[in-house]
Amino acid sequence: MLEQELRDCIKEIPDFPKPGISFKDITPILSNPALCHKCVEAMAEWAKRLNPDIIAGVESRGFMFGFALAQKLNIPFVPIRKPGKLPREVFSCSYDLEYGSATLELHKEDIKPDARVIVHDDLLATGGTVSAAIKLIESAGAEVIAAQFLVELSFLNGDTSFAQKLEKHSLVSY
Ligand code: AMP
Repeated sequence: MLEQELRDCIKEIPDFPKPGISFKDITPILSNPALCHKCVEAMAEWAKRLNPDIIAGVESRGFMFGFALAQKLNIPFVPIRKPGKLPREVFSCSYDLEYGSATLELHKEDIKPDARVIVHDDLLATGGTVSAAIKLIESAGAEVIAAQFLVELSFLNGDTSFAQKLEKHSLVSY
């Protein structure tokens, strides 16, 4: 079963990057092409019935499977990046982290109003990152129809209020 294969492959690193965090290292999946293929197939199988126009992936680990998913669905991939990386005019959204805050940016021209967008990130923890990504896409006038992750940390009981207005999907949940 895919979920078990992913659990067996993902490495859990205690106290990284700081004490109390159990970091889920997804990079071993990338060394296993057959497993990558199964992940992309499963994500595409789930996503295709929603008829998305765009996959928007969050820097940086959201680029890996987000781009592969967009290729599989034969639709555009749009990067959501950390500040100062995108050279053209951007929408920005800042959000709170446990300590301090962070900002995400999106090229204004990359998403047309009324586009149906799936946001992709490698992992859902507190929900802050995906909520900021959703706000960014909505500032472009587009509709976020789903949020899709490789991994979801359900035990954190993060803010999943975004899922009241769109669909949420992950391949493995802890
Ligand atoms: P959050 O905004 O708290 O939902 O965090 C999601 C983002 O932080 C994702 O882009 C993840 O790559 C990263 N992240 C947060 N917690 C972890 C964790 N325990 N293991 C790996 N990545 C994490």
